[in-house]
Amino acid sequence: MITSHMNGYVQEASGRAVSHRERAVDCPGEESSLVKAPHCSAHMERIQHYQEELRKRREEDGKGKHDIDPNASLRLKKLSQNPKVGIDNPTFDGKENATKDSSSSGPVVELEDLLQAVKWVQHCLNDPQSQQDVDLIMQLLAKEEFKNAYTIYTVLSQQMNRVSPTSPLTAQAQDLCQEVQRILQSSQQKEGLELQALLTNPHLQALMQAHDSVAGQEMAEENVTQYLGETVKLVRLEKARDTPLGATVRNDMDSVVVSRVVKGGAAERSGLLSEGDEILEINGIPIRGKHINEVHDLLQQMQGTLTFLLIPSSQIKPAPHRQTVIHVRAYFDYDPSDDPFVPCRELGLSFQKGDILHIISQDDPNWWQAYRDGDEDSQPLAGLIPGKSFQQQRETLKKTITDKSQEQQGKVWYSKKSKKLKKRNISTLSKSTDYDDILTYEEMSLYHQPANRKRPIALIGPANSGHDELRRRLLSIEPDKFAVAVPHTTRNPRIHERNGREYHFMSRSAFETDLAAGKFIESGEYEKNLYGTSTDSVRHVINSGRICLLCLHTRSLRVLRSSNLKPYVIFIAPPSQERLRALLATERKTPKPEELKEVIEKAREMEHTFGHFFDATIVNMDPEQAFHELRRLIDKLDTEPQWVPTSWLC
Ligand code: 5GP
Repeated sequence: MITSHMNGYVQEASGRAVSHRERAVDCPGEESSLVKAPHCSAHMERIQHYQEELRKRREEDGKGKHDIDPNASLRLKKLSQNPKVGIDNPTFDGKENATKDSSSSGPVVELEDLLQAVKWVQHCLNDPQSQQDVDLIMQLLAKEEFKNAYTIYTVLSQQMNRVSPTSPLTAQAQDLCQEVQRILQSSQQKEGLELQALLTNPHLQALMQAHDSVAGQEMAEENVTQYLGETVKLVRLEKARDTPLGATVRNDMDSVVVSRVVKGGAAERSGLLSEGDEILEINGIPIRGKHINEVHDLLQQMQGTLTFLLIPSSQIKPAPHRQTVIHVRAYFDYDPSDDPFVPCRELGLSFQKGDILHIISQDDPNWWQAYRDGDEDSQPLAGLIPGKSFQQQRETLKKTITDKSQEQQGKVWYSKKSKKLKKRNISTLSKSTDYDDILTYEEMSLYHQPANRKRPIALIGPANSGHDELRRRLLSIEPDKFAVAVPHTTRNPRIHERNGREYHFMSRSAFETDLAAGKFIESGEYEKNLYGTSTDSVRHVINSGRICLLCLHTRSLRVLRSSNLKPYVIFIAPPSQERLRALLATERKTPKPEELKEVIEKAREMEHTFGHFFDATIVNMDPEQAFHELRRLIDKLDTEPQWVPTSWLC
């Protein structure tokens, strides 16, 4: 799968070979110059020529099926010479005539004429069998029922001819009006002045504008014709300065083929350009034989109406289906400029761990199309991001390669717990690597907390980052709004303590049973006694309508997230080393420089390993500011829906 993306190298401007087999034919952010697409009359002539050829061919095909060659029999020749019946079309089928000439206002043959024509036939035919046949027809025509049916048919066919709209001749009626006005400027004739007054009338100008926009849409629709024996389609797209075309092309031998149509671009919105279509011409410029880089450069120069002559993809187009947009949180950083596998670098979308992405197309399982949350309005074109399984596969591959090279270098792994040297077996490692262990994306949904069930707030941070202090402050200022979960302990109650107020007191064996059953979010041992916070304690605070404040270690995050408590996790990051020293000094703490460094190092590590679980981060530069920011974030949970893992809402 990966290797297929390495095929088709193209040369970058620098000359460096890169593995991008597609080229965006128009890129977001790239300035298109103001060269208007030439209105190529030669090209239009060619198209008309193709269409004329097709029309003729169709007529010829049709003739074989419906028409009769008048020269094929003497009888018909005689018949065709009757001026009433008509030499060009000796068929009596009024319907056929009606479809051939949509401007005629009814069947060519009136009933009376039809009778005359049959009489003429009778006169021409001498043999008794024919006489008998024509007699039968005459009897039929004389019947009242037939006359009525024929009258109805006549009326209907006239109606149908009238509703058939003619196709627009131009989408530039406004330009034509202006041109005529320019010519009339020098005219002093009465008619000229009158026409000038008409053309400058705002109502007429509005009419022309409406005409052009409707005609523009109609003319953009596909025209199918013949080109070198192939069925081709003619597609017109309007390429505005601020609307990217949004398509990529690839070289397939000497052909230039539409490789990808990106959501949000003019190509996608028109619905006329499809993946697999071969581009023969753009505005009359032949494309076959050109390198995709040339096509890219060419299109960058163009603006306005682009006329594509295409050989439609032979692949059967799947029925258009409504794509369901899924929202994910990214669990890795992605930079397309650093990705040798991205099929089209210009269309790659960069993002950072924790970003919310809206996936709007997974048509290509390897390269999804997405927008970053908040970018949808400013960035009309979707970007390419690696699909989930593609990302998992290459991360596994990367991991295996790294592990192998480390093994070759004689590196070993340490088990953190035992601190004993422990060599891991490479083959078991790669075999046991579960794709689900590799974090890519998690599906998210918007969740608005109900007023009576507030989400618990988990404050995370290294010791001395100030998260404990922030929690204390919230509790002391608004004790009715905030609360802590009553912890459990195996130690004996002190004299003033009451079960369920300071602690839930329990036996060691009961604690251990609950711990094994996963009932604790976190736990620890202090002076041979066990302590811990249970999910039930947190739920108790939630049910009371207050906001449960938790200060947790990062290792509790996984359990907390799978607990159905819907926590909102805020990381309290320390400021710079110097600022941290100053802040701690106000609390009469005098940490050594290496201790300060350790706090910052610890925070960095926490962010690196668990950053994707943080809903927000507050850098504690100033306790007052940090407190206000914390209040703002907590209040926002009441006013705005937040992204939470979709699995929480199932
Ligand atoms: P004490 O027995 O004096 O109330 O608390 C002793 C220690 O246990 C303190 O350091 C306190 O922070 C810790 N402790 C209290 N509750 C919990 C808890 O829920 N979980 C953990 N891990 N430690 C706790």
